[in-house]
Amino acid sequence: MTITLQGCAQCGARQYPPRALCRACLADALRPVEETGEGRLIVSAIVHRSLEPGFAGDLPLRIGTVHLDCGLRIIAFVDAGLVDGQSVRLRQEAGAVALWHAGALEAGV
Ligand SMILES: [Zn+2]
Repeated sequence: MTITLQGCAQCGARQYPPRALCRACLADALRPVEETGEGRLIVSAIVHRSLEPGFAGDLPLRIGTVHLDCGLRIIAFVDAGLVDGQSVRLRQEAGAVALWHAGALEAGV
């Protein structure tokens, strides 16, 4: 399973969230690119309260920062049982653009 990010055809940089111009070289030659979604969970925290009503039924939530092998850092929901520093694989919630989930790399998520 792969994830789709925005990539620059001019310099090869990857970026998220999508932008009109490349963050590295300012070119507008951007296109969707597939990446493995593999990386490392840098740090995580438990969210007990949210101002977003859509999350009220899911609290407490665990979120964390994942450093992808392609160089990007993305904030994601973190599956139970993961520990900070562990290798993970990101997956994108079906139909969602901005909801990322980090799962164990070994599980082939
Ligand atoms: Zn670029």
